Amino acid sequence: MELFDFLLTTALTQRGLVRWSHHRGLKQELYLRKNSTKTRSPRPILLLNIGQLLTLSSVSGNPGPRRGVELGELEIIEDAAVLCVGGKIVSVGTTHEALSDPWIKKNRKRLMEIDCAGKVVLPGFVDSHTHPAFISPRLVDFEKRSAGATYEEIAEAGGGIRSSVENVRAATKSELAAKILAALQQMTTQGTTTVEAKSGYGLSVGSELKSLEAIQLAAAQWPGTVVPTLLGAHVVPSEFKNQSQKYVEVICEQMIPQVSKRKLARFVDVFCDRGAFSEEDCLRLFAAAKRNGFQVRAHVSQLARTALANLLAMNPVSLDHVDHVDEADISQLAQSSTIATLVPGANYFLGIKYPPARRLIDAGVAVALATDFNPGSSPTASMPFVLSLACTQMKMSPAETISAATINAACALRLEQTKGSIEPGKDADMAIFNVRDYREIPYWTAANHCALVIAGGAMIPSHAPPFGAYRIALL
Ligand SMILES: [Zn+2]
Repeated sequence: MELFDFLLTTALTQRGLVRWSHHRGLKQELYLRKNSTKTRSPRPILLLNIGQLLTLSSVSGNPGPRRGVELGELEIIEDAAVLCVGGKIVSVGTTHEALSDPWIKKNRKRLMEIDCAGKVVLPGFVDSHTHPAFISPRLVDFEKRSAGATYEEIAEAGGGIRSSVENVRAATKSELAAKILAALQQMTTQGTTTVEAKSGYGLSVGSELKSLEAIQLAAAQWPGTVVPTLLGAHVVPSEFKNQSQKYVEVICEQMIPQVSKRKLARFVDVFCDRGAFSEEDCLRLFAAAKRNGFQVRAHVSQLARTALANLLAMNPVSLDHVDHVDEADISQLAQSSTIATLVPGANYFLGIKYPPARRLIDAGVAVALATDFNPGSSPTASMPFVLSLACTQMKMSPAETISAATINAACALRLEQTKGSIEPGKDADMAIFNVRDYREIPYWTAANHCALVIAGGAMIPSHAPPFGAYRIALL
């Protein structure tokens, strides 16, 4: 711990912490980021004059995913302030409360003060479904699709996921890491601070391990949080054509145990859909993952309906896409703790039917939103664009899209204790948007109004203030 942080921490703790916290229910404690190799904030940060602070704190005290009407409750504070110390949020309240605090008055010049000038501040987006471990865009597929070919016709003609495999296998780990880091940086510019990153374009033990190592390398260079997922079961690679069971065996007996031993992933994912892996394969892969200490998630019902009952019995953390669900699936999802992650960027890009978000939400399913960033079906790193699609194409309200992209997405990664809301004790991950009303975030379609991002209490380097500065104004 740096000397000033230590002194400040001691001072805050001895004084019973800052008293103006608006938060109800949580004990105000000061947490310090331990053993972090990431860039630390040079000094504590005080955000002032926030026009709308979207805290996402739960009205009912529910720490889990928001369902039904609760999905639209953002708990907004106007003319707000937030104090962050040691990478954590310490206090939340109004600017007046912050400036009246004697300790803040005394130490104000030692804080990095950000005048938000009436802008909107919300928790950094949690993008809980991405595939950044690839080398090239798939422009031939894009052109063919524009000419009318379907996803499956493109795959049958040698395009699709398999066409990304060759150059991932040929790439070095550092080449791949550079591509992943570039994607993460693009995500940050649009307000994302936590990203789930899947492998899945290697499709051999060596190349999947290399992809996960590349994700780890990129994550170490990025100020946000990366959650790695093994997606060896993306499709069956060409060398196992007509022998899919042999490939499933390789994943269960070699890939999963090696990834577990080297602690390279937190989740195991399976593409369980027509043309990929069957329900039976998926259950076998889930069982192998659980034996090796992983939690599981799956891509389902994107191209055709996947029966969900048996998969849900394995308690997956999330089931993603869910475009072709029926009423029975919806009611089973609503009764489960599994998050349904919708990725409308893929529906938009492929020009296919959107998932029934309204029916899912109204039935009580816990819904999250993610980009599904990938080279074949969703080459967008923009969470604001996804929110926009969710409002216009799936009839979610702007408030629902914010909850789905923050607290519910954090639940989809089992990170709800540290991410997804602005409350004392949580990680200081925030996005400041240059708008006056949060509804403008999905409203200004395909625009980027993100003015500043704070991850783990540190300003993202492109926004770092000049050396020695203690105050910046976001005019
Ligand atoms: Zn995906």
